Amino acid sequence: MVEDTTRLLGLAGLAVVEVADGPDGPVVDLVTAEDQRARRCPECGTLARRSKGRRVTRPRDLPIGGRRPALRWRKRRWRCDEPACGRGSFTEAVAAVPARKRMTERLRAVAGAAVADGGRTVVQSARDHDLSWPVVAAAFAAHAAVVLPQQPCPVEVLGIDEIRRGKPKFVLDEATGTWQSIVDRWHVGFVDLSDGQGLLGQVEGRTAQVVADWLLARPPDWRDQVRYVAIDMCTIFKSAVSRVLPHAQLVVDHFHLVQLANATVTEVRRRVTAQVRGRRGCKGNREWELRNRLTRNAARMRAEHVDDLQAELSALPTHIGAPILAAWNAKEDLLDLLALARTDSDRERVAVLLDRFYRRCAHADLPELERLATTVQTWWPQILAFIRTGITNAGSEGTNRVIKTVARDAYGFRNPANQRLRTRCATTRRTRGHLDPR
Ligand SMILES: [Zn+2]
Repeated sequence: MVEDTTRLLGLAGLAVVEVADGPDGPVVDLVTAEDQRARRCPECGTLARRSKGRRVTRPRDLPIGGRRPALRWRKRRWRCDEPACGRGSFTEAVAAVPARKRMTERLRAVAGAAVADGGRTVVQSARDHDLSWPVVAAAFAAHAAVVLPQQPCPVEVLGIDEIRRGKPKFVLDEATGTWQSIVDRWHVGFVDLSDGQGLLGQVEGRTAQVVADWLLARPPDWRDQVRYVAIDMCTIFKSAVSRVLPHAQLVVDHFHLVQLANATVTEVRRRVTAQVRGRRGCKGNREWELRNRLTRNAARMRAEHVDDLQAELSALPTHIGAPILAAWNAKEDLLDLLALARTDSDRERVAVLLDRFYRRCAHADLPELERLATTVQTWWPQILAFIRTGITNAGSEGTNRVIKTVARDAYGFRNPANQRLRTRCATTRRTRGHLDPR
């Protein structure tokens, strides 16, 4: 019976002597198993012969059948008789409950895995397992070090995106009398967009150097395998990638372009309203009432609504209606161009639509549209790469959402290194097989 109970408890190296009912669950009396491994001096390995008596420890363990057993391990202290050994005495230890630890190794592992793989916060895992915050945080870090890969697997499409984290921190530099930032408000994330490895890495700061440094820390053959890099229209990423991954094709996501085009329409609307009416738009000004419809994609609106919109803009005073209509048309031209992505359109079709957009911007004679056209011109090779490949940075944005959710759950992070480790664990859960319903 006692052998069966020992087997059921499953703590290698420890044998059950007796199980009694306690006030809060079973009280399990344990002794060290007879295999004598625990009797060897941890320093020299000599088998000890003289006991110094017993000592009772109460390591905490996982619940059994919903109840947390109170373990009572009467372990021996031994004298080491080896004259050359500096160790005078030692207490028995087994792998399941290492020396100086007041909990079983499996409890520690489960508490750490609940954070890294189970999406639990450190606080909640500590509550669930009746442990303290620092113990669970350390268990999590140990678990993450084992399960996270040192280097990412080869990636064909890499996404680079910036992530905002909390507030920046500054300290006063006594020597120069200036404030220096010690914690940057921005982090840069590297995401696998081809294979779903999730977040590959995250670095603090938003400079070309930190991006280049992360890329240079990968092995050369890994860098050679990156064929496309999806970024938003950010010159920092552009310069870093063209320096470190000169062979990779940069791709600019349509999302940011559409956002920019919509912002341009809004900017024109606000400017002409202010110029003509001498104040901001409000209820009763038709262009203000149409503000949300102006930034919708006409391709997703019903034809009669598009006709109505154009008719209403034409009916406005010319100094208001005409520029807004011109900006709206330019925006729609750009959207038509971007809609060619993944359609295998020929060069000519792309050239025709691009030309139409440029012409519209040129004829409108609006500074906002000139700027939009210049941006498109600057980034045209990368935009064309998007139209050809249809690669988007949506995966990076999805990862950002997970990063924000983790930060909210934790009520913010004080330690950016902790945050990076937590987000890497959270965003790689799918790859590591923890989101599989089975
Ligand atoms: Zn010894």
